[in-house]
Amino acid sequence: MDGVSEHPFTPLSALLIAALLLFVLALGFPQTARAAGTEAARPSVILISIDTLRADHLSCYGYTRLQTPHIDALTRGGTLFAEIYSQAPITLPSHVSLFTSTYPFANGIRENAQVLPAGAVTLAAVLAARDYGTAAFIGGYFLDRRFGLAQGFQTYDSPFETRPINAALGLKRPAGQVLEAAEHWLENNDARPLLLFVHLFDLHQPYDAPPAYPSRAPQSEYDQELAYVDDSLGDFFEFLGRRGLDRRALVVLFSDHGEGLGDHGESTHGYFIYRSTLHVPLIFHWPRQEKSGNSKLETRNRTLESGDSVRVSSFQNPVSSFAERVEAPASLIDVAPTVLSFLGFPPPARFCGHSLLELAKGGDSPLRDVYSESSYAHDKFGWAVLRGLRRGDYQYIDAPRPELYDVKRDPGQLHNLLPVQTAVAASYRERLAALVATYHPAPGAASSTSSAVAPGAAESLRSLGYLDITAPRAALDNSGVDPKDRLFEYKRYLMAGHLARTGKAEEAVAEFQAILADDPRNLPAYIELARSEVGLHRYLEGANQLKAALALDPHNVEAEELLGDIWLAVGDRGRAAAEFQRLLAFAPHDYEAHFGLGLIAARRGQSAEAAAHFRAALAASPRSAEAHYQLGLILEDQNQKQEALRELQTALDINPHFAEARLELNRLTSHSH
Ligand SMILES: [Zn+2]
Repeated sequence: MDGVSEHPFTPLSALLIAALLLFVLALGFPQTARAAGTEAARPSVILISIDTLRADHLSCYGYTRLQTPHIDALTRGGTLFAEIYSQAPITLPSHVSLFTSTYPFANGIRENAQVLPAGAVTLAAVLAARDYGTAAFIGGYFLDRRFGLAQGFQTYDSPFETRPINAALGLKRPAGQVLEAAEHWLENNDARPLLLFVHLFDLHQPYDAPPAYPSRAPQSEYDQELAYVDDSLGDFFEFLGRRGLDRRALVVLFSDHGEGLGDHGESTHGYFIYRSTLHVPLIFHWPRQEKSGNSKLETRNRTLESGDSVRVSSFQNPVSSFAERVEAPASLIDVAPTVLSFLGFPPPARFCGHSLLELAKGGDSPLRDVYSESSYAHDKFGWAVLRGLRRGDYQYIDAPRPELYDVKRDPGQLHNLLPVQTAVAASYRERLAALVATYHPAPGAASSTSSAVAPGAAESLRSLGYLDITAPRAALDNSGVDPKDRLFEYKRYLMAGHLARTGKAEEAVAEFQAILADDPRNLPAYIELARSEVGLHRYLEGANQLKAALALDPHNVEAEELLGDIWLAVGDRGRAAAEFQRLLAFAPHDYEAHFGLGLIAARRGQSAEAAAHFRAALAASPRSAEAHYQLGLILEDQNQKQEALRELQTALDINPHFAEARLELNRLTSHSH
């Protein structure tokens, strides 16, 4: 067999190993190794994203029902930004905004499962070009590499590569595992300045905190997850301390958006743009710039002893020139410019955010426009886009029925001031329009790839409680249905989806039918109803619902895909092929269509055509184990044994539990001997 040849152990390789060992040892003691260094290395940067974390649930932001001592410890020798707003209350758009320092409407990523096109200017790409080592460790599926945020990262650890099974928990990786992987990487990679990004997804539903935590925070599962994340970060900060990284690195902790937790009738996030889902924490812990000082993160015990105090000023870095707290409202798109300006690098021209460094040094705070949006209700149901502007104490929300809040006096946003403050509202509306006009991309700039939903993403969205988004519609305007007025329908829809995901298909069918009886234009309800019918093996009923969906939107990719799949499932290859061909007419790179047509051609014995379709499917979704496997079978039929072996092996590399691929590979290898 053609195995990996063994390297003989020679004196030369022994020398190399010894040199390597010395090098690794030196890395283990960075302070001593660098004491004699000629020039100070640039600080490393560690970005910690705690997904779905409301600022007001951290004790350093004033929460009293749970202590988060380890996160709070970052504020000592650090700067807490008290009024940071996310640009979009949705995971992928918010992170893309942060890493590219651009607005969602400008960069085109407004929903989960879209794909950030190659060539984006991200903070990671900028620092990689500056010879930083870059690595990311991802806790949740929405930032999987397939969605494009991996650009600029030399290591991007997101173990969500195989097509996800319909179990939401499989789309999360617990904080402890994410941080352990990051620690392992740091142990081998902190010889040069680095950018490390860790993404902790535990606070995102569905909850699954370890058994010890319900007693720690009996008030809510959300707080239990937060207690677990805080503990995990405590271990991580201890690790950073042992390696001296707490002194050498700029540590930035933030969240991508908050969580409704019932505020404004919203339990999760994404639908509205109130403070509950936009107000996020942002803490910069500055590296120590002097040889001595107390800015080091406090150890776990001392932190725990600090009890419920919000900040312990005696732990302040005596040489720190930074403010403890900045009250001025600012944006997540300001994070990347702040990091670059701290490192002494100029921001790329495409960045739209402002460095917060001067503010952090106690400088004057110019009043800034802080923009947020959600096009979820628009893209999902065809209702109005919500756009908001925070400036000073007010937040204005542009909608068919606009709103204005004084968030300083009314942080819960219970009193819409618009009827009495019409002049303020009008000026905010003008500023909002001007901001959108300033940054709006030129027509055609948003490429079709950027708005496409990544292949295979639909199932995963559903299992996380979202219903998948078809390609966002182009035009923006605030006419149409106000999402406020359809909250009931939306919640009912979420509930029906929950029934469908928890095996209560009959109940889900009844619920979706009731929604459609009230609102026959609710296109996603037809599609979800069809899915539930299919789950109950009522294929023809499912097909009828999809035809109704396609009557409302003839170019609905998801409805066409599912309709083709239904005909395939009932063995009607003619109808299946017709639907998939129809789909290719308006979505020529669609994975499902090519995969389905590949299967049909294979069963008809048209192996050349089948291979072409499977290759097209792989062009759309290179990590599809199924497509590699099917292509392997076709190549085997065509007597291209080596190519077949390679495809089967790739399928297994992607999904090591792919039993059929393993069986086929074994059969083929044993035949070849
Ligand atoms: Zn998120």
